Amino acid sequence: MVSAYIGVGSNLAGGLASPGEQVTKAVEHLAAMPQTRLLAQSPLYRSAPMGPQHQPDYINAVAQIETALPPEALLDALQTIENRQGRVRNQRWGARTLDLDILLYGEVEMHSERLILPHPGLCERDFVVLPLLDIAPQLSIPGHGKLADIAQHCPRYGAKRVGEVA
Ligand code: ATP
Ligand code: MG
Ligand code: MG
Repeated sequence: MVSAYIGVGSNLAGGLASPGEQVTKAVEHLAAMPQTRLLAQSPLYRSAPMGPQHQPDYINAVAQIETALPPEALLDALQTIENRQGRVRNQRWGARTLDLDILLYGEVEMHSERLILPHPGLCERDFVVLPLLDIAPQLSIPGHGKLADIAQHCPRYGAKRVGEVA
């Protein structure tokens, strides 16, 4: 089993579910993946969009799982959950009902056509670093150093804690 951290984000309602509800539902779906257990989930954060600005604010969280799925199988499982929650891929960094990114997969560093680990945006986004710090204050990021130090300097999207995953 490997400990992995998953970044969860939403800024569109899907069906009747608000972005906060999409994030909560996604964490339940993570917990239900095969060969996987949910270890921790961060509070919810609200932040301004990255990239195209004419879209709603995002709700973000980070979940820690323990999984026996290899990295690419984990990515497949995450994309299945995104699709089930109505993810439509159009504009890069455009609005979406759900985004699930593998932030870290143990200490693995890899760069394949489908998967880059650690996630290349991890240290560049307060809406990832702050919730990750909540659940893993001692964490170091391979190639980047201590998360607590990264949190002092990473780019800001106004990420603010707004509640708990329901
Ligand atoms: P960003 O990756 O900058 O946060 P995004 O999440 O909006 O952008 P997506 O459209 O969700 O991007 O994913 C585009 C592709 O990124 C995926 O099809 C996947 O193959 C690839 N990818 C590479 N590394 C990762 C990773 N660590 N986690 C999730 N997807 C990844
Ligand atoms: Mg993303
Ligand atoms: Mg993604």
